[in-house]
Amino acid sequence: MSFRNFKMVDYVVYGRGSLNQLDEILAPQRKGDAPMIFFVDQFFAGNNAFLSRLPLRGKDKVVLIDVTHEPKTTYVDALKDALKAEFGTVSGIVGIGGGSVMDMTKAVSLMMTNPGSSADYQGWDLVKLPGVYKAGIPTISGTGAEVSRTTVLTGPVRKLGMNSDYTPFDQIVLDPDLLKTVPVNQRFYTAMDCFIHCVESLTGTYLNAFSKAYGEKAQDLCEEIFLHRSDWDETSDEKLMMASYAGGMSIAYSQVGVAHAVSYGLSYLLGTKHGIGNCIVFDKLGEFYPEGVEKFKKMVALHNIEIPQGITKGLSDADFDKMIDVSYGLPPLWENALGKNWKEQMPKERLRALYEQF
Ligand code: NAD
Ligand code: ZN
Repeated sequence: MSFRNFKMVDYVVYGRGSLNQLDEILAPQRKGDAPMIFFVDQFFAGNNAFLSRLPLRGKDKVVLIDVTHEPKTTYVDALKDALKAEFGTVSGIVGIGGGSVMDMTKAVSLMMTNPGSSADYQGWDLVKLPGVYKAGIPTISGTGAEVSRTTVLTGPVRKLGMNSDYTPFDQIVLDPDLLKTVPVNQRFYTAMDCFIHCVESLTGTYLNAFSKAYGEKAQDLCEEIFLHRSDWDETSDEKLMMASYAGGMSIAYSQVGVAHAVSYGLSYLLGTKHGIGNCIVFDKLGEFYPEGVEKFKKMVALHNIEIPQGITKGLSDADFDKMIDVSYGLPPLWENALGKNWKEQMPKERLRALYEQF
C-alpha cells in the first residue's frame, strides 16, 4: 500500500485585518518589474474603499473576475493569453474572492508556464511545471478551494479539476473580516459545501485518522454556527473560515461522495452552481447519508433557506444520459462512497431515478 504524499499550501496567515499585511507578504515574491496581478471577484467592482487596500505597485494590475458562471477552460486560456500579450511574464497572481476566483487564480498561474490549453490538464497529475507564484484570499468560505490541490474547470468535454502537486497556493491570507458582506443564502450554500464534504469524507471508505481529525472539527464548527443557533455574529464568520480550511484538509486525504458525483452532472448540463447544486442533491440523499441529511434539513429550516426544486423536470432522455455520464466519470467519488462494487450498487436506472427527484 502506498500513501499519498501530498503537497500543501506553503504559507498561511490568519486573523482579522490580515489583508493589511499583503504588501509585505508579496514584496519578496516580486521579480524585477514584472507585475503582480490581482484577480478580484466582480462583487468588489467599484468598491474603492476595498480596492485601495490592495498594494498595487509599478505595473501591477487588477483584473475583475466574472463569476456569473463557474470557471471554464476557455476563460482560463483567454486570461492567460491576455496576460502574456500584455506583460510577457508576471511576478504572480493574487486571487481575492470565492471558490470561483480561487480556482481561476490557481489555473491561470499554472497556465502561465505550462504549454497548450488548460483543458489538456483536466485530470490527475497531468501538470508538468510549477506555475507562477499564486496567493489566495477567500472572501466567502466553505469550498476548501483555498487549501485543495485542485481547480475545478468546465472544459469542452468534462468538468474536472487540474489536480496536481503544483496546484496548491504558495500563500493564503485568511481574514474573516472579508466575509461580512456575503448574502445569507449564498453564505449557507457555500458553507454547506463544507458540511457536505465532511459528511461524505467521514462516512467514506477512504477515511483515515488524519482525514477524520480535520473532518470532525470542520463538521462541528458548521454545526455550532448553523445547527445550534439561528443568528450570526463575527465569531460565526471566524468559525466558518476555519471550517472551510479544515474541511479542505480533510479531503486532502479522503474524497467526496455521492452528492458531489451527482451534482457535477447538474452543473455540467444545467450550469447549476456548486454550493446550491450540492444542497439540491444532498436534500434527497437520506438513504445514503441518513444522519447528515437530517441535520441538513434542520439547518435549512432554522435559517429559512430556500432549496430549489424541480430543476430536472422536463429534461430529455439524452439530457439525463449526459448527466449520468458526467457522474460516472468520477469513479474515486463513487468508490469512496459505496466501495469497490459501486457500479453494481448504482446502476444507471437508480442514478436516473435520483436525478428525476431534483
Ligand atoms: P463563488 O466563488 O461562485 O461566489 C458566489 C457568489 O458570492 C458570487 O456572486 C460572488 O461574487 C459572491 N461573493 C464572493 N465573495 C463575496 C463577499 N465577500 N461579499 C458578497 N458577495 C461575495 O462561490 P463559492 O461557493 O465560494 O465557489 C464555488 C466554486 O468553487 C465553484 O466553481 C466550484 O467548482 C469551486 N470549488 C472548488 C473546489 C476546489 O477544491 N478547488 C472545491 C469546491 C468548490
Ligand atoms: Zn464541494
